[in-house]
Amino acid sequence: MKKISILGSTGSIGVNALNVIRKIPEKFQVMHLTGNMNTKKMIAQGKEFLPASITMVDIQAAEIVEKALKGLSIEIYSGRDKLLDLAGDKNVDLLLNALVGASGMEPTLKALENGVDVALSNKESLVVAGDIIYNAMKKSGANLFPVDSEHSAIWQCLFGEVKEDIEKIILTGSGGPFRNRAIDSFSTVTKSDALNHPNWEMGQKITIDSATMMNKGLEVIEAYWLFNLEISQIEIIVHPQSIIHSMVQFKDGSIKAQLGVPDMKIPIQYALTYPRHLPSKWERLDFKTIGDLTFEAPNFERFPCIKLAYDVLEKMGTAPAVLNFANDYCVYRFLREEIKFTDISRIIEAAVENHTWLKNPKIEDIKNLDYWTKDFVNNFD
Ligand code: MG
Repeated sequence: MKKISILGSTGSIGVNALNVIRKIPEKFQVMHLTGNMNTKKMIAQGKEFLPASITMVDIQAAEIVEKALKGLSIEIYSGRDKLLDLAGDKNVDLLLNALVGASGMEPTLKALENGVDVALSNKESLVVAGDIIYNAMKKSGANLFPVDSEHSAIWQCLFGEVKEDIEKIILTGSGGPFRNRAIDSFSTVTKSDALNHPNWEMGQKITIDSATMMNKGLEVIEAYWLFNLEISQIEIIVHPQSIIHSMVQFKDGSIKAQLGVPDMKIPIQYALTYPRHLPSKWERLDFKTIGDLTFEAPNFERFPCIKLAYDVLEKMGTAPAVLNFANDYCVYRFLREEIKFTDISRIIEAAVENHTWLKNPKIEDIKNLDYWTKDFVNNFD
């Protein structure tokens, strides 16, 4: 039995992970679940999975959960400090980090420092502090297992392969809802336009990131750290059907791809059961009905966020962290309908340009930059 904790269990990835665990309960013991404010979902999860502990970041939410689960032997906690503490619990075999945004970075680091393997859905961890996380892994020997569907695909394609044989990896992206929208109409994109993703059902933050294609940019940086490649070895191709989840091209010209229906439960399950592909009843891909698979080059003019992501990867140091923080805060401002869709890339670029760049930031430097960037983004107009 694998002892597993889930950070962000009431979010889209967390709920899907518990769907996976529900189907193979003999493989897992649920240790710690954490959530923010969603008491209803957390109470239901507590009753069903009987974890050792539940932490709600919001203190009032914790009180509600505690009352509802009285009598069950579940420890109830509140606050971010407790969440961080539990992320580093050495009794846990695998931590699924399904937190949203840059706040997921410290829990990832805490777990890896303590030798706990991490199934990583929170790509922002690697964007913000890739170097620090990489060194923590080397020191403790703990592993990172990708949950992101593209990185899971590459991970699967690389199984049994020799790293030196890789020519490049090809990350696929659907192109989001605005792949064919007239560029001069981007400034009038509304929140509900942007939340309407054609293929994947996901949380709000990542859905906006898919609309700007910043998600693909963040994934380039995530891939850089996960697979240790040169920037020039990481390519993006737009593939609107989201059937091929990504590919690896080898030096002899051979290409391996991983395919499937666009369903996050599949990569989540693989990260939880690696190296096994255990039986599941999730929907199967039917080649007789999928129709054409098409591909096109990503359009950097239409999606400037992709270019910004490649640029910060070249600059390295603190540049990726600032891009990530700025993107988080811009997305929240866009969701509050305070800024236009086209402001997102504009503000991010300005934040990266205006921050005080450091070559080898420490965690404290990165935290300070988070405050600086929040201030910069929230006062930008
Ligand atoms: Mg992805």
